[in-house]
Amino acid sequence: MSLLADYRKVQIVSSISEPGVCSHERGQRRVLVPTMGALHRGHFELIRFAREAAGKEGEVAVSIFVNPLQFAPGGDYEKYPRPETDDEEVCRNAGVDILFRPSPKEMYAADFSVAIEENSLSATLCGKSRPGHFRGVCTVVAKLFHILAPAAAVFGEKDFQQLAIIRRMVRDLNFQIEIIGAPTVRECDGLAYSSRNKYLSAAERQQAPVLRAALLEGARLVTGGERSASAIIAAVRKVIAASSLARIDYAELVDAGTLQPLETVRPNSLIALAVFFGQTRLIDNIRIP
Ligand code: AMP
Repeated sequence: MSLLADYRKVQIVSSISEPGVCSHERGQRRVLVPTMGALHRGHFELIRFAREAAGKEGEVAVSIFVNPLQFAPGGDYEKYPRPETDDEEVCRNAGVDILFRPSPKEMYAADFSVAIEENSLSATLCGKSRPGHFRGVCTVVAKLFHILAPAAAVFGEKDFQQLAIIRRMVRDLNFQIEIIGAPTVRECDGLAYSSRNKYLSAAERQQAPVLRAALLEGARLVTGGERSASAIIAAVRKVIAASSLARIDYAELVDAGTLQPLETVRPNSLIALAVFFGQTRLIDNIRIP
C-alpha cells in the first residue's frame, strides 16, 4: 500500500467521551468507514473513497470494532484477527484523520437492552444463514453514526446485503447520512479480499477463487441468453462442486433491490454466494445489470 503524499497524523481514540469524537465539535465534513479491523486492500479502497467524498478540508474517520452482537455463539468472535499495530499503520498510510477503536464495554452497557432490526432484506441470504447477524450490524452501525456523526459513510459491495440493509435503515430511521457503496477489491486470482482469508489453509486458499469463477460462469450464461434461475444456479454450483474443499452455504439469484429469490433473470439481478472452506465462510456476489 503506497504512502499518500499528504501524510496526516491519525488521532486514535477509544473513548466515546474524548474531545473530537463527535464531528459536531469540529464542524468539519466527516466521512466514516466502519470496519472490524485486520485492514486489507478492500478497506484501503473504502478509505480512498471516503477521502474523495470528504474533500481535502474534510475528515476521514475509520472505526475498528469487532462487534460481539453480530457473531453467533460459538462463532469466530474470539479468534477474529486483531492486529492493532498493523491497522494503525494502514490508517496512517491511507491518510485517515481519526481512528475510533472502542472496547465492547465502551459500546455496550452491561444491561443494554435496545437493538435495531431490519425485517425484510434481512430475511434472505446471509440473514437466513446467520440469524441475528444483521440485528447486530444495524445496532452497531446506528451507534457509530450517533457517536461519530458523519455526513457520509462508505460500505463495500462485497457485503451487498449489508449495504442494502444499511441504506434501508438510514432511509427508514431518517439518519441524515449519505451512504456510499464501493466496488469489491480482489486479489489477482479473483478472490475478494477479506479479513477471514487469513484463516484459510494453503490448500483452501488455492481453491477459494472458485467463488469468483462460479459467479463469472453464472454471468456468462446470462449474457448467452439463459433466463432460468435454476439453470444458472445449477451451473454455479457445478463450478464450485469441482473444488473438493468447498461446501456451499447458499447460491442464489435474487432481485438486487428486494433480495428476494427470482425464478427468471430480470434487470437488476444479483447472484450471491456463501461458501465454506472448513470453518471459514466466504461470501461474494455479482450484479447482473
Ligand atoms: P469488515 O471489516 O469485514 O466488517 O468490512 C468493513 C467494510 O469493508 C465493509 O463495508 C465491507 O463491505 C468492506 N469490505 C470488506 N472486504 C472488501 C473488499 N474486498 N472490497 C471492498 N470492500 C470490502
